[in-house]
Amino acid sequence: MTDAATEIRAAAQKLRTLATAAAHEDRTRWEVGYTLGSKSRVVVDNHERPTVLIESWAAHREQVDDYLAAFASPVVGLAVADWLEHEADAIDTVTTHDVAEYPDDDPDEGPQCVDECGACTAERHALAVARAINSAATKEPACTAPTAS
Ligand SMILES: [Zn+2]
Repeated sequence: MTDAATEIRAAAQKLRTLATAAAHEDRTRWEVGYTLGSKSRVVVDNHERPTVLIESWAAHREQVDDYLAAFASPVVGLAVADWLEHEADAIDTVTTHDVAEYPDDDPDEGPQCVDECGACTAERHALAVARAINSAATKEPACTAPTAS
């Protein structure tokens, strides 16, 4: 098992745990909707009985809502976790990479992957996603209340 595969599997596990916990009553798809009272645009996990209700106040909140509905849904997190696990397995099982070449400046050095090696490119992309997930804060922010002097 490589360090990259370990890092990618850690992200997959973290994402799967978070997405599973975020899916209340098997509601894995969040959608854009409106509150019953004020008709404010929101993202919900169920239009009739929401247990997730996200309201944004960004300048382009419609795009934010659409983004949250498209990418923050637990179903997407579970799919990304599956993909990361697949990539980690591929890293551990792929023994040959794309076309190898010998470096011109050191003929004693073994073959190396070409710049466009598919296995290396897939690993680099999966690692970038894994690192973004692994570095995401999941704890309460520090208290910023002023202290007594
Ligand atoms: Zn390679």
